[in-house]
Amino acid sequence: METKYIFVTGGVVSSLGKGIISASLACLLKAHGQRVTIQKYDPYINIDPGTLNPYEHGECYVTVDGHEADLDLGHYERFTNVRTTRANNVTTGRIYQSVIDKERRGDYLGKTVQIVPHITDEIKRNIMLLGKTGDYDYVITEIGGTVGDIESLPFLESVRQLRWELGDNSLCIHLTYVPYLHAAKELKTKPTQHSVKQLQELGIQPDILVLRTEKDIPQQMRRKIAQFCNVAPDAVIQSIDCASIYEVPLRMHDQHLDEIVLRKTGVEVKSAPDMGAWLHFVDRLHSASETVTIGLVGKYVELQDAYKSISEALLHAAVYNDRKLDLCYIHSEKLYDHNVDEMLGGLDGVIIAPGFGQRGIEGKFAALKWCREHDIPTFGICLGMQCMVIEYARNVLGLPEANSTEMNPSTPHNVIDLMEEQKSIHNMGGTMRLGAYDCRLQPGSRVAGAYGTTDVKERHRHRFEFNNDYRRLFEQAGMKCVGENPATGLVEVVEIPGKRWWVGTQYHPEYSSTVLSPHPLFLSFVAAAVKYHEEKLLQTIPAETDQTTIE
Ligand code: GLN
Repeated sequence: METKYIFVTGGVVSSLGKGIISASLACLLKAHGQRVTIQKYDPYINIDPGTLNPYEHGECYVTVDGHEADLDLGHYERFTNVRTTRANNVTTGRIYQSVIDKERRGDYLGKTVQIVPHITDEIKRNIMLLGKTGDYDYVITEIGGTVGDIESLPFLESVRQLRWELGDNSLCIHLTYVPYLHAAKELKTKPTQHSVKQLQELGIQPDILVLRTEKDIPQQMRRKIAQFCNVAPDAVIQSIDCASIYEVPLRMHDQHLDEIVLRKTGVEVKSAPDMGAWLHFVDRLHSASETVTIGLVGKYVELQDAYKSISEALLHAAVYNDRKLDLCYIHSEKLYDHNVDEMLGGLDGVIIAPGFGQRGIEGKFAALKWCREHDIPTFGICLGMQCMVIEYARNVLGLPEANSTEMNPSTPHNVIDLMEEQKSIHNMGGTMRLGAYDCRLQPGSRVAGAYGTTDVKERHRHRFEFNNDYRRLFEQAGMKCVGENPATGLVEVVEIPGKRWWVGTQYHPEYSSTVLSPHPLFLSFVAAAVKYHEEKLLQTIPAETDQTTIE
């Protein structure tokens, strides 16, 4: 079968959840037995989001092949279990870079290089790359930004040309917003009509409209939209706010989004999609009655998208432990030795977040000291792991000035130091240790037990590393290096065996947790948090029982 291309555009406002709709459609098509991948085209000039502050676009996601990518790729993987690569996320910057490189090489043979056709040809060539591998029946392309943005124009022009060239092997889904005016008690369709008009002016006729809404859109209103927008009435689908993003594929299936896409692209719908495991997950998500409370200590807590993969990995693990997740974001800049008891007391487990730079770092040390001394299940990820090492050096090894050379280049005890291969690097973009590397785990360690194996591969994004000169000192004092890269000897995992759960990973396990394949370390961490919660309950129950007996 020829590869089919689905384009997903957005209008009216940003943040409508194009990524979730694209991922939900992919999830459904996969459940129909189709081979699917999703790619995101971002209209900004940065080559990739690796140099962006998380306040700009949220978390930077990392693919197995070491690409720093938009966080929507995380949703794509979590919903489909299909790994993404560098080819799944392209920006305007990358397109221009490649066109300019070709111009310098003389590839354009003296022609004037222009947005149309040279930039648009480069966009089209990239959009078709994954389809040409023969590995996919459907390639879903999400166009970032909103119709009407200057930056999106070359992408939309490329979509227009591709729709024309591909005919029935392609279609366009346009996502818009139907606002509810509380004062008038009315849903309003005008912004959708305008947005579709704008798309039509660019020569793109959407085949399917997905309407984001907070209230149910009556059938009659959907028919009106269909009529105004030249879309079949059954192809006007509402996407009403759900309690969980993981319900969205089910709500889309209720309205036959999957069948409409298959039918319109000439694929016969033989049976219902196999959503059994997904349904089971969503049922478990809703039926959990008890809660596990996890604190996430980081410095970007005002923007929850900054830790998207961690919060989703925790949610997956909570569901598989039959618990509701209560995730408390704790600002590391507001955390001190004198208030840590009040800020972290009551938590069942604590995550120390990844990050860069000095801001908020001392709060992470305060949290770690308190968690270690109170034996709270604690999970340090990347910078969080490095902080575990520094805190231990300061308070257990008796090296009060221990630090990472990232925070203090002249520390006398550089327990975390710049990796050798990083020392000559000056460019910031795409130069960290990125992507999946092998890690060998010590047999009998807690992490090896959690994974059920001693050989794993996990994704990285860092420049600094555990300084092996201090390894013996740490191990003698009780912090064990239980995971290392077999080729380089770089320490990847530390743990304190006697604790309830005290693990730090130099890598980012959160990137590879998916709905149908939750990450073993998150499962194990949340299980330890649940166990600790129950221990705490048992300690309080006898006291209360005594009181009732006395009364
Ligand atoms: N800043 C640290 C480093 O570069 C940790 C990076 C991270 O947490 N992703 O090594």
